[in-house]
Formats: sequence, structure tokens, C-alpha cells
Amino acid sequence: MYKERGILIVLSGPSGVGKGTVRKELFSTPETNYEYSISMTTRKAREGEVDGVDYFFKSKEEFEQLIEQGRLLEYANYVGNYYGTPLDYVNDTLDAGRDVFLEIEVQGARLVREKAPDALFIFLAPPSLSELESRLVGRGTETDDVIQARIAAAREELAMMDLYDYVVENDQVERACDKINAIVTAEHCKRERVEQRYKAMLKGDL
Ligand code: 5GP
Repeated sequence: MYKERGILIVLSGPSGVGKGTVRKELFSTPETNYEYSISMTTRKAREGEVDGVDYFFKSKEEFEQLIEQGRLLEYANYVGNYYGTPLDYVNDTLDAGRDVFLEIEVQGARLVREKAPDALFIFLAPPSLSELESRLVGRGTETDDVIQARIAAAREELAMMDLYDYVVENDQVERACDKINAIVTAEHCKRERVEQRYKAMLKGDL
């Protein structure tokens, strides 16, 4: 029996561009009809962050075991900490026909591109580099060293736009969310994705 798989949606972009804010806004509205994949990380929880909601917080040893066991779709070492996407959750949810949304940094997105080329890749771009810097500083959650490292990473990350299917400028969070939802809707209408269903229908397999 034909069963449609969900779409793997990957939102990535430079550090400080507002991926987290956009993701939270997306998932705060009832129209958003996809599942957020909660990442694993070895970073310490920030104030207010909850284990199993914001991240699954892991020790370095636990994380390295997950890597060894092949239980991550992708992972990256980002500014001294591991971050990774749980493979089983993603596969099970896609198999159930639900779209899965990843909000990850660019090294990880590149790995997903290799492993799941039919995923939908959206690059969130900053309006400008100085804006990016002031957002990182304004957030006030990081030391100067970390901010400098993140800005250096962001310059390199901007050059990686060419790996993506769509670019959404994050000039206003709500506008960016509207664009992302529109992109996902359009992706569901893509002939390549839809034709399998029609073929199954014609074969009486639906
Ligand atoms: P933060 O420490 O600010 O929560 O996240 C730092 C960076 O890690 C952000 O760019 C965020 O998108 C990224 N990130 C979060 N989860 C994952 C993940 O599972 N894999 C990868 N590769 N990056 C992630």
C-alpha cells in the first residue's frame, strides 16, 4: 500500500541570524503543520532551557556513544560543543507521513544534503553582517571570545548559500515565517513529490 512520506525541512544559516527565533515563532502558531526535531547537544543548558524541550542535553561520553552507534542523522562540533539530530525520530516521523523540521548549523546541513538529497533546504540569511554582529552582542548570553568565534564562523557560513534550495532573508521574523510556510506548501505541490501518489492511485494502490 502506498504511503506518502513526510518532507524533511532543513532550516540553516549563520549563527545569530535568528534561526532559533524563527523556529520558535513557526512552532507557536497552530497553522504550522510539521514536527520539530529536538536536537542533542553537549552544550550546557542556558537559563530557562528545559531538557527534552529545547535540547536533549548529553555528556560528551553519551554523545560520542550515539555517534558510534550510528544514531544521529548528522552531527557537528560547533564552537566547542557537539550538536546532532536523532536519526530514529526523523525516520519514524517521516515514515508516518509527517514533515520534520530541523534547525541546524551549516556543517550539519551539508551532511544532511549528502544523506538525504530530497530534503528541502532553506537558508536563513541576515540582512547584513553588522546586523548579525549586533544581534550576537545584544543577546548577551555569550562571552566576547565566543561572539568573535561565531562572527568568524558566520562569514564562512554565508558563503555556503549555494547548497540550498531557497534563501529567506530574516528582516522580520513574521515575514520570514510566512515565506518558510509558503515554501513548504509549494514543496508539497512539486510534481516529483506528487506524482508517486498519482501513480499509486492509477495502479489502484491507494
Ligand atoms: P545554540 O547553542 O545557540 O543553541 O546553537 C548553536 C548552533 O547549533 C545553532 O546554529 C543551531 O542551529 C545549531 N544546532 C542546533 N541543533 C543542531 C543539530 O542537531 N545539529 C547541528 N548540526 N546543529 C545544530
